[in-house]
Amino acid sequence: MKPLSQMVKKDLEKIKMVVFDVDGVLVPRGTKIKQIGHTTTLNTKVIAKKQIEQIRELYKKGYLINISSGRGLYMLQEMFREILPFVSITYECGSATWHNGKIYQHINSFELTKDIFPKLQKVTNKSKNLKGFEPKEFIITIHCKKPDKKIEAVVKKDKNLVTLWNGEAYDVLIKKTQTKALGIKHAMKIFKLKKENIMAIGDNYNDQEMLNESGMPISADKSRVNGSFYIPLEGKFLPADNLMQKIIELKK
Ligand SMILES: [Mg+2]
Repeated sequence: MKPLSQMVKKDLEKIKMVVFDVDGVLVPRGTKIKQIGHTTTLNTKVIAKKQIEQIRELYKKGYLINISSGRGLYMLQEMFREILPFVSITYECGSATWHNGKIYQHINSFELTKDIFPKLQKVTNKSKNLKGFEPKEFIITIHCKKPDKKIEAVVKKDKNLVTLWNGEAYDVLIKKTQTKALGIKHAMKIFKLKKENIMAIGDNYNDQEMLNESGMPISADKSRVNGSFYIPLEGKFLPADNLMQKIIELKK
């Protein structure tokens, strides 16, 4: 892995699309969630004006922009409202992609997840560790204060499913298939691109499969994921900010 400072113009030659993870890349890590009985409160993070302008700038330079997140579509639309005409959104860990108001579904998880949901509700009922179930369509996301053995045990009994702890929540996903890699592969088809045309940036364990599917993977946390380049975590700019500054500078 090379530091981003060593990226040169030639590295960008074939790139046509930049895929951004959201949390820890375009916004600081962490989702605030609170669930009391049937009332769930979510605190939506906003994308800073500066990043909105940078994305606009990349788009003007001819790049396609894909946002790839574990979050739900409703929340991502809210976050990227100002630049929705310029981006496509792949949501819930590669499960589906929104582009210009059209939704492309990449996986049907209903049969494999419908039975585990009540079990997870039961095992987390009245648990002091539970912060809340995040509303999702294709995956199950359970926010907890800390890792939870009971949740892990329930999912472990199901051979088709897997848990992924990201430091603040568990995603319950279909083993091997329901990953951000699925999303990036489909996004490539939608936009008729090849692996070599894709630059992808992510910071967390659930980004590695996606990064592996891109010709130019960028790690925003080299202790968690590998890439051709990495962006140092410390520093005053968000990883996406650093990357976009670099691309814009190289493409002057
Ligand atoms: Mg992330």
